[in-house]
Amino acid sequence: MSTRKPATIAVRTGIESDTQYHAVVPPIYLSTNYGFPAFGEVPKYDYTRSGNPNRGLLEQALYELEGGQGAVITNCGTSALNLWVSAFIGPDDLIIAPNDCYGGTYRLFNTRANKGDFRVQFVDQCDDAALTEALAQKPKLILLETPSNPLVRVVDIEKVCQQAKQVGALVAVDNTFLTPVYQQPLSLGADFVIHSTTKYINGHSDVIGGVIISKTQEHAETLAWWANCIGASGTPFDSYMTLRGLRTLGPRMRSHEESSLKILSYLQSQKLIGAIYHPSLPTHPGHEIAKKQQSGFGSMLSFEFAGSYEELQQFVSRLKLFSLAESLGGVESLICHPATMTHRAMGEEALEKAGISLQLLRLSVGLEDADDLIADLDQSLNWVKENR
Ligand SMILES: *Cc1c(COP(=O)(O)O)cnc(C)c1O
Repeated sequence: MSTRKPATIAVRTGIESDTQYHAVVPPIYLSTNYGFPAFGEVPKYDYTRSGNPNRGLLEQALYELEGGQGAVITNCGTSALNLWVSAFIGPDDLIIAPNDCYGGTYRLFNTRANKGDFRVQFVDQCDDAALTEALAQKPKLILLETPSNPLVRVVDIEKVCQQAKQVGALVAVDNTFLTPVYQQPLSLGADFVIHSTTKYINGHSDVIGGVIISKTQEHAETLAWWANCIGASGTPFDSYMTLRGLRTLGPRMRSHEESSLKILSYLQSQKLIGAIYHPSLPTHPGHEIAKKQQSGFGSMLSFEFAGSYEELQQFVSRLKLFSLAESLGGVESLICHPATMTHRAMGEEALEKAGISLQLLRLSVGLEDADDLIADLDQSLNWVKENR
């Protein structure tokens, strides 16, 4: 099984598994409870908070894709992160997280730390000296998010995992941006992989969900126990939908990336576009590490708009094929202004520290025709140029 390629695992998991009617596509089980076959005989599934066939299939697909031993499907990516800290950290323990992590992750860790649930330190994980100093404090958990959001900065997973082992810390990688199609953190030494399946895994912007995949059986069981205990599990319908979206993950990821590379070369020729952030660019600080640990560069990119702030707003509002919206990884192209949208909860000081300026725009390149997307960017930039 595990020698199969990601696209095959994504398509085949659960196909022809129905024993009642031999449905080719696995049916949906909405029942909240399951009969005990006999007195004292506990069935595989008894109550949907603890387990469900649709969730089970999605779990299997995702842990096989990531090369893990088990997975827990949660009701969103944030709750996967919350489950992870709930299961493995206590009041005196320290967690090290990236200073440019997803805004909701920052809010979750910061708020819980302020309540005294644990200690947290947000570190620039691309800065070797800062990371070494943080590790010297013997953290219990380390979260990596690579490439990061929105500046797609790249952290050397293998190197951090080796350092973490020496101080006895467990490492989780938020792999939302690349998916197992382009990056498999467990094979680089990580203990856990976390996804917001809301993004590329489901891929159609119609389900909120999350997953945490464990490298060991023991960790997988601990997390499943905690998911049942705190009520973090996802619903059967959402798992059904997410597995349906997952089927096309391989071809989607390739198409997203192909279009991104075309858009990148267009953007590079434009005077109104300043610094561009994407791991494929040789000038990108993480380019070499990305080539080593990723099998693709992914399709999230961001750039500084080199006109005025007013012109930036004009540029964004004149686009027809990039919707001004949060989230990412769906079939539809999106444009986001992180400072006033996804990352606004960080506050000015943290934004500045993370290098997220008011001129920064982030694109999630969808599956529309790349030429149409470029033509759309072009008409809007031209309007700005002609109306300066
Ligand atoms: C969206 C996102 C999350 C949070 O996931 P939700 O499903 O919105 O709760 C966490 N990490 C990254 C990188 C994300 O993009």
